[in-house]
Amino acid sequence: MKKNYDPRMHSAEHILNQTMDRMYQCGRCFNAHIERKKSKCDYHFTKSLTADEIEAVQSRVNKIIRSDLPVSEQFISKSEAMSRFNTDKLPDEVGDRIRIISIGDYDHCPCIGPHVKSTAEIGEFRITSTAFEDGVLRIRYKLESG
Ligand SMILES: [Zn+2]
Repeated sequence: MKKNYDPRMHSAEHILNQTMDRMYQCGRCFNAHIERKKSKCDYHFTKSLTADEIEAVQSRVNKIIRSDLPVSEQFISKSEAMSRFNTDKLPDEVGDRIRIISIGDYDHCPCIGPHVKSTAEIGEFRITSTAFEDGVLRIRYKLESG
């Protein structure tokens, strides 16, 4: 996991992951490339998304962004984190204090990366393309400055 994530793009990834899991119970992305101009997330999946489904994901993510939810951090013990979250993506050397990032009440996720302070900073979220192959759904997205 890279530490120099763009905060806006990376915070959008948190919201996209929670939205995808709520809509499709697919879990969070297992692979992501986050860059300032465009990003992509890969999900274990069973089908491609229709244009209507893509639109629904995009509008749910934008609804959360526009709600201007506060992004906050708290630290919990490693054992508590392992009982409440999937901690597979955390590096082994993370120690016993695990940082949990919360986006309002919408999303809670252990993470070491940089984030915005509130979701309105993210701007407009736009899915630019999706692709489905061999059980993997790839979502590419970018942000229009708000
Ligand atoms: Zn994060």
